[in-house]
Amino acid sequence: MDDVRGRPGCPKRMVFGPCGGVRVDERCEVAEHRCVFVDEPAPAWQGPPSPPVPPRPDSLLAAAAAARARPVVLTDLTVPPFDRAGLRRVVEVLAPVSDGLLAGEHANRPDLPPTVVAAEVLDAGGRPWTTLACRDRNRVVLEQELAGLAAVGVDGVLCVTGDARGPGVRPGVTQVFDLDGPRLAALAAAAGLPVAVPESPVAPPVSLRPARVADKQRAGAQLCVLNHVRTPAQVAAFVAAARDAGATLPFVAAVAVYTDERSARVLQRFPGLQMDDATVERVLAAPDPRSAGIAAAVAEARALLAVPGVVGVNLSGLASDGGELAGARVKAEVAAGIGRTA
Ligand code: SF4
Repeated sequence: MDDVRGRPGCPKRMVFGPCGGVRVDERCEVAEHRCVFVDEPAPAWQGPPSPPVPPRPDSLLAAAAAARARPVVLTDLTVPPFDRAGLRRVVEVLAPVSDGLLAGEHANRPDLPPTVVAAEVLDAGGRPWTTLACRDRNRVVLEQELAGLAAVGVDGVLCVTGDARGPGVRPGVTQVFDLDGPRLAALAAAAGLPVAVPESPVAPPVSLRPARVADKQRAGAQLCVLNHVRTPAQVAAFVAAARDAGATLPFVAAVAVYTDERSARVLQRFPGLQMDDATVERVLAAPDPRSAGIAAAVAEARALLAVPGVVGVNLSGLASDGGELAGARVKAEVAAGIGRTA
């Protein structure tokens, strides 16, 4: 847990790597060399197994555990940074149709501290899941945020290693990476918080990724949020492989929400994820791309919800070039389209 040196050669100083950003040719997300976990996998999780934290009543985790009477929806919060009023306007649109609102930690866009965002989401009527990344905070500050998130009463924490900071964003400022995602998951579980973890089914080394989910579960994860892939069949194969590797936790699968050129291309540029490019082009060429994008997202969500082991969907992406509120309204229409009503 306390090894802050990490694997030699890993710019994120991970011990339980690799991160989700390994490039398709197996080069590092951050440097030009080969990812140091491709040829020499990380050790299996070495900490003590974390006992599961009881989900909060009526939370996304509780809904996932119950017999599925309706789709479980985790919606990305795309909000203007350092703008509490803007955040509240988006929450008011999305909270009624979401079991959880996922606050991000963006590599290119600093924002208010996670605990402040979570408190604002709760106050506006939302159920926050807060992403916490290891990039910008040392272990002491991560512990502070975890204690703060527990105190304000978030439904859970998505524990990620984090993307490297975007080029030109706060140049010269150090990137911390005292911990990695699995070790942060253990820390969060020890703080009494329900923990979600990400995984990227199509990021190299693909064959190691299913066992990583089982390892993250041993570290304390109770939910796995999958990154975008091209087809639901890929999700089905990944979940089955993770089950074979020992993972028993529920999965939430990503749905790409876009209705115009910018919102589509932003998703396509992210490392470690794939999009159904033919569907993207069909949506962008449609006479009414907004309606076509919503229909495509609804279809993708329905197909993903039919995959065994997938308990819900994560409505993800910018959704619209027309601003955060316009994007929130698009996501709310997608949620309604799959039967998640207020
Ligand atoms: S791709 Fe990620 S895990 Fe691999 S060496 Fe680079 S930063 Fe480390």
